[in-house]
Amino acid sequence: MFKILRVNMADLSVKSEDLPEAYQGLGGRGLTSAIVSTEVEPTCSPIGPNNKLIFAPGLLGGTNCANSGRISVGGKSPLTEGIKEANSGGQAGGYLARLGIAAVVIEGMPAEEKLYKLFIGKDKCELSPADDLKGLGNYATVDRLKGEFGEKVGFVSIGQAGEWKLVGASIAFTDKELRPTRHAGRGGLGAVMGSKGLKAIVIDPAGGELAPLADKEAFKAASKRFAKALQEHPVTSQGLPTYGTDILINVINEAGGLPTRNFSSGRFEGAEKVSGETLNKITVERKGNPTHGCMAGCIIKCSGIFVDEKGEYVSKWPEYETVWAWGPNCGIDDLDAIARIDRGCDDIGLDTIEMGNSVAVAMEAGIKEFGDAAGAEEMLGEIGKGTPLGRVLGSGAAVVGKTFGVRRVPVVKGQALPAYDPRAVKGIGVTYATSPMGADHTAGYAVAQNIMKVGGDVDPLKPEGQAKLSSDLQAVTAVVDATGLCLFVAFAAMDIEDAFNAIVDMVNAKYGLSLTGDDVTSLGQRILGMERDFNRRAGFTEADDRLPEFFKFEKLPPHNQVFDVPDEELDTVFNFLKK
Ligand code: SF4
Repeated sequence: MFKILRVNMADLSVKSEDLPEAYQGLGGRGLTSAIVSTEVEPTCSPIGPNNKLIFAPGLLGGTNCANSGRISVGGKSPLTEGIKEANSGGQAGGYLARLGIAAVVIEGMPAEEKLYKLFIGKDKCELSPADDLKGLGNYATVDRLKGEFGEKVGFVSIGQAGEWKLVGASIAFTDKELRPTRHAGRGGLGAVMGSKGLKAIVIDPAGGELAPLADKEAFKAASKRFAKALQEHPVTSQGLPTYGTDILINVINEAGGLPTRNFSSGRFEGAEKVSGETLNKITVERKGNPTHGCMAGCIIKCSGIFVDEKGEYVSKWPEYETVWAWGPNCGIDDLDAIARIDRGCDDIGLDTIEMGNSVAVAMEAGIKEFGDAAGAEEMLGEIGKGTPLGRVLGSGAAVVGKTFGVRRVPVVKGQALPAYDPRAVKGIGVTYATSPMGADHTAGYAVAQNIMKVGGDVDPLKPEGQAKLSSDLQAVTAVVDATGLCLFVAFAAMDIEDAFNAIVDMVNAKYGLSLTGDDVTSLGQRILGMERDFNRRAGFTEADDRLPEFFKFEKLPPHNQVFDVPDEELDTVFNFLKK
């Protein structure tokens, strides 16, 4: 039987309960969104005692299925003021699942401004004071905790940004080498953790077991088919392991959709210098590691290790989104500077997408020049020191735009746009506009069909067909997020029918179910329904499902396109909820 661990920060109690009937059959994003929509008052303060912070491994967590150990984090977002799920790799998801824990729910607030750490083990779960960790970045926090708990555990922590409750704050998860490089980045959930006075969680998997399987042989067979598909598909077997997600720089630049200098152009003249190809080249020359998995059981391994010219560790390979946010979007073409910034964001505990956008908007306001890499590092330093300018930058692109009177501010529901310009990749524009999460490329990755021609072919520059594409993708993605699978498996699942069927077969074999592909889509729609309902009760309307106005009238070079998917079509994305 799976358990929910309820951690009450008001009386510092930790209680275990059986997973209630209403939450059975849910995991990952499905479970976090169900708990938030059922138990959190939608109009509450996101950093007040009535919000909850939920950590949940996916439905396939704790098994030997490849790439299944991601963890979802949910709550009401201080950035969007709506429902939020952000997920991460690292060790925590697999460890919790092996301890039989379906969710950890952090509730209430401590009476005094004190910090605590939570230990979760097989026979003991307890809170203890952590004021000695106050003001530490994630790297120093993990080092200190390793001294106390050893190295056979996983850590979850916040840096200074979370303690200060900045809405750009992330939650860090350690990777296999116990580096805090994997983050639930989006939506400011680090600020929610900070508001609860929870600096860190230590998860000790000792004594845990592989998740029980209703039909072991069927699971084993489906899991083999799934792994085979990942090893056969060119994106998951060659592209991502060799160049990381940064492989997309050249692809999206070529497509004219790489937002440059705060979304003023779709092509960056310095793209090659920050591309995945260059990242691979300098990593190999410096004897770094281009192919590294962020969690046990990953067979794609998109996450390399970035080393400096002396071969010293700097950070994990910055993701495409990070390279873009702090690179082309700020007019910067220096991979070493971007890797140092990635390390800094991981340490302070910041969402690299939100912060890159904050800095780009600040550059547009003239705080620093576009292309000034040292200036960008300086601005990150301001955030880390908590100066007044740093607090403004750490509060996200919308706040920076308002503070400095900038008109071109790329946010939806308060959350900054990721690395694909919606005027040149219109399907992802529909996802940005309508996702309950705010602008989020992972919520329905239409770039696959618009640009990469994986799983279909929809012209990226035409408005036709984009709403239906995003609608279908958002439902399927909600399910992938519920399984705990890394989203990158979707490249294989969209192209190889048996890979998708194998995922359904694994869920059935684990839980003794007989779901069909249609049932899977229904589950995704149900999750989206809970999320939309929460947002509606929080005060969101269809007027919030829109891109900022400038995308409608500023033409984006080189295609000179505007975002012209009609509002009426955006309003059809969730028609399935009206049935
Ligand atoms: S493919 Fe990349 S993001 Fe996904 S689990 Fe592996 S290393 Fe992590």
